[in-house]
Amino acid sequence: MYSIQEDLAMAQPTVSPGQTAKAAVSSSPTNGSQKVHNYVNGKFVESMSTDFLPVMNPSIGKQIASVPLSTAADVDEAVRSAAGAFTAWSATPIKERVQVFYRYKTLLEKHANSLRDLVHEENGKTIGEAMAEIEKSIEVTEFACSMPQIAAGEILEVSRGVECRVDRYPVGVVASITPFNFPNMVPNWTIPNALVLGNTMVLKPSEQVPLSSIRIADLLKEAGLPDGVFNVVHGGQAVVEAICDHPGIAAITFVGSTRVAKLVYVRATSHLKRALCLGGAKNHLIVLPDAHEEMTASNVAASMSGCAGQRCMAASAMVAVGPIDHIIKRLCDETRKIVPGNNLGAVISKQAKERIERYITEAERDGAKVLVDGRNVVVKGKEEGYYVGPTVIDHVRPDMKIAQEEVFGPVLAIIRAQTVDEALKIENSSPYGNAASVFTQSGGAARYVIERASAGMIGVNIGVPVPREPFSFGGWNESKFGSGDITGKAAIDFFTKLKKTTTKWNPESRANWMS
Ligand code: NAD
Repeated sequence: MYSIQEDLAMAQPTVSPGQTAKAAVSSSPTNGSQKVHNYVNGKFVESMSTDFLPVMNPSIGKQIASVPLSTAADVDEAVRSAAGAFTAWSATPIKERVQVFYRYKTLLEKHANSLRDLVHEENGKTIGEAMAEIEKSIEVTEFACSMPQIAAGEILEVSRGVECRVDRYPVGVVASITPFNFPNMVPNWTIPNALVLGNTMVLKPSEQVPLSSIRIADLLKEAGLPDGVFNVVHGGQAVVEAICDHPGIAAITFVGSTRVAKLVYVRATSHLKRALCLGGAKNHLIVLPDAHEEMTASNVAASMSGCAGQRCMAASAMVAVGPIDHIIKRLCDETRKIVPGNNLGAVISKQAKERIERYITEAERDGAKVLVDGRNVVVKGKEEGYYVGPTVIDHVRPDMKIAQEEVFGPVLAIIRAQTVDEALKIENSSPYGNAASVFTQSGGAARYVIERASAGMIGVNIGVPVPREPFSFGGWNESKFGSGDITGKAAIDFFTKLKKTTTKWNPESRANWMS
């Protein structure tokens, strides 16, 4: 298994041009306080900051590195690097740019196991879940490789001898700000698409999981990406604010909580930047009495517990319509098969574990019934790890905190409803709108819910309805600020601007160009 500690053991004490990412996290190979470096103009460089945060391995509660809380000056350096590279990169034909990403995809495949193990180590999700994340990064890179075909411009003879053509131009330096829950995949939601389309980038990964982005930088360099096209600045709020304020950045994508998504959207657009900010979620799974018992139970259990419930697509509330106690019993049986430290990973931090357990305790205090209790779990051999067991809570009322807020842990709140319309009213009342699902064997009932659910991504008999490429990913309501979606075909519009050229080719044609 890949281990950051082994990489650190090989690391050099100073950073030099062309040095690999593996070496660039370290200054001391043994104590877990090795420093993560920023990546600017193709080199790993020390942040100008003296403030650092520990990077933890959530499965064992041990520090594995230290991440700098970089400054506005670090951001400025990275933006200058990206701006400097933009002229040559944007002028490189797209068919040449895409060659880098064919090689990058091959490198992701070649190093899939070590990338997987690094995600597992810094995020705490299971090895299988970490591999699924790398596979998704490969899929989005494959999609980006189709850009020369699908992002081609348009041309039409609009009048005799007169043609209009539309060409796509990159927007400039873009910034991508990412959350902790998918350290490899979410950065890759934007990197291949934005860069193939001719932009240059500054990535600000989550300070809780900064290590995967170092490997991404390494692989992009190995794939032949010119220096400066991709840069990484580590840190937290100060870096994000400097990105929003920097005049050299044209567009920002953000993925994270709704609270911060709103802040970033308002700040970025106040500086007249293009912004797309994806936020949190509270996804409702509506289960109708005719739902297939086994399939529904296993899907709901997998959706609420996958990645320890730390997915913006996770089932958070199940709205049980009518007499479905048999499905709930089966769901509890399925849930009990999910074992922390085995097929259930850790949550990101001690604070997250405490917060999630507090939600369960408060729901119980307010009258809900805990059917499967994941509090106070201790995993043998990983006693310091941040584990919460799968939890199912029945008879949650829509007015309870646990029914309304994003818990972001392996916790399912079951809310009882008598009719589909009552269930839809509960789903519609959520301020979020990322995903919703319906479980039924009736096509008509499914259609009824699809048309009325207030969410951007809908599942029918699917617990995690993530649209796969070429379809786009993005929610509604307070799960997304800005128009368009972040992946798939919608990414083409976000990462390009249109130039419309009208040309008269035949001097003989009449003076009126509309002729
Ligand atoms: P977060 O909002 O705390 O952090 C996201 C990013 O914002 C990080 O890079 C962080 O450093 C930065 N940040 C944090 N506080 C900030 C502040 N006050 N000002 C400026 N920047 C700040 O989110 P997280 O805890 O890392 O990730 C979990 C959240 O992300 C959940 O709410 C989850 O639903 C959401 N998420 C959404 C999607 C989606 O597609 N909608 C995908 C993944 C995760």
